Amino acid sequence: MKSFQKELNRRRTFGIISHPDAGKTTLTEKLLLFGGAIQEAGAVKSNKIKKGATSDFMEIERQRGISVATSVLGFEYKDIKINILDTPGHKDFAEDTFRTLTAVDSVIVVIDVAKGVEEQTEKLVEVCRMRNIPMIVFINKMDREGKDAFELLDEIEQKLNLTVTPLSYPIGMGYDFKGIYNIWEKNVNLFTGDPRKDIEDTIEISDLTSSELDDLIGDEAANELREELELAQGVYPEFDKDAYLRGQLQPVFFGSALNNFGVRELLDCFISIAPTPRPKESEERIVKPEEDKFTGFVFKIHANMDPRHRDRLAFVKIVSGTFERNKPYLHVRNDKKLKFASPNAFFAEKKEIVDVSYPGDIVGLHDTGNFKIGDTLTEGEALNYRGIPSFSPEHFRYINNADPMKSKQLAKGIDQLMDEGVAQLFTLELNGRKIIGTVGALQFEVIQYRLEHEYGAKCTYENLNVHKATWIEAEDEKSEEFKDFKRLKSKFLAKDKKGQLVFLADSQFSLQMTRDKYPSIKFHFTSEF
Ligand code: GDP
Repeated sequence: MKSFQKELNRRRTFGIISHPDAGKTTLTEKLLLFGGAIQEAGAVKSNKIKKGATSDFMEIERQRGISVATSVLGFEYKDIKINILDTPGHKDFAEDTFRTLTAVDSVIVVIDVAKGVEEQTEKLVEVCRMRNIPMIVFINKMDREGKDAFELLDEIEQKLNLTVTPLSYPIGMGYDFKGIYNIWEKNVNLFTGDPRKDIEDTIEISDLTSSELDDLIGDEAANELREELELAQGVYPEFDKDAYLRGQLQPVFFGSALNNFGVRELLDCFISIAPTPRPKESEERIVKPEEDKFTGFVFKIHANMDPRHRDRLAFVKIVSGTFERNKPYLHVRNDKKLKFASPNAFFAEKKEIVDVSYPGDIVGLHDTGNFKIGDTLTEGEALNYRGIPSFSPEHFRYINNADPMKSKQLAKGIDQLMDEGVAQLFTLELNGRKIIGTVGALQFEVIQYRLEHEYGAKCTYENLNVHKATWIEAEDEKSEEFKDFKRLKSKFLAKDKKGQLVFLADSQFSLQMTRDKYPSIKFHFTSEF
């Protein structure tokens, strides 16, 4: 076995987050090109759901195929093992992204220079901020007219509640985009608009007052750059790696992914500052990556594309120790030992059976239905990684069985799809009716289609007016207040898959009224409290 510590130290596992169309796919592709992991542009398929594709099942299937292929992209660059975890940008799959963010050690946030901070960026960054995940910001599409750098940095601070400091600075933009000054490396990279331009073409300028700068970009641009950099120095804090690692300072880079410009600078800085695998909290204790015993958790489950085999691929992030093929590990929730004969490691264009994996790595384990999202694997210790919270769904519908002969298949299908995290299931206390809650309307079609094609079951939906699901916590379950609540609100009470009590409020107003009426009861907006 290679030196464990060395393998640990050279791993960087991160996610790229952005609003759709900001350039996540393009940036991913350029990063892979630097790693020599792919040979040409266009090799990385976007996992975007195109507008209007909602009823196109072929499209859904195609997307599922792509999302397996691009779930984890591993490559090497300058002897660093980089794992990119794919996060769907489409808001209907936001939960998937939230879950994936529990497995990254840092993120890169891509922002479109013209559009600035957009809705999905705000939501995803908030999740990262709450968890103190180190973030680097990449402002993309500098070859287009967009917002002024200061305005944009300001917007990022205001809307995303971050503290930024530029590590590169644009010289002009759009039609006048001349290049970037790399504050981190103290050099200038001139923009030619040719993506194949030799990446070594940067010009050292350690002294900004030197006339070399004027010769390079012209007097006017040089003076403007000097002024703006001076101003920036006054406004923004100096870069501090520890503050970045604590999630308190976010360095910013400028570039154009499409033109492969500014990406090398981003990547070189990334490998030198981004964290190696971070310790992780479990219910019992904090686990450090350098511990010699293996631990890991499932953050994503993907159903096999072949409907005749109902096996699934569970994505496990290794938190500590080494994961070895054919070694028995404890599946803590089921208290069962499991062995994996063919764990997969992920590379840019393929997955391969792997004998040993290290902290930071993701292994894909074939599963016939043992795993749920959030499950922990260990060498024997009864350890439970902090669950991955469910958020209140946005859309709710009754699900009905459309083929009485297939009720078993339907139940099994629903069960497994919920384990995969496609949607959430609620069972009404009053009559046992089943309600599916999803983040986006698209999931209902995905579920219906998959139930039929993978489980041979048919379902129909019925509309239901629910504004939000809130998880209920009673101070005292025996109190008169709680009994009164349960009696009067019985129509609105359901159990989630774990058996936790949920209140399905039909409007904002009724939720507020109910909260006011029962002050000793807590109404939580996520399942973990
Ligand atoms: P994603 O939805 O975030 O994955 O975005 P994509 O990578 O698919 O990019 C969305 C669109 O923006 C595509 O048409 C890209 O070609 C384009 N794009 C990406 N980067 C740049 C850039 O640096 N400059 C310009 N002009 N277009 C870009």
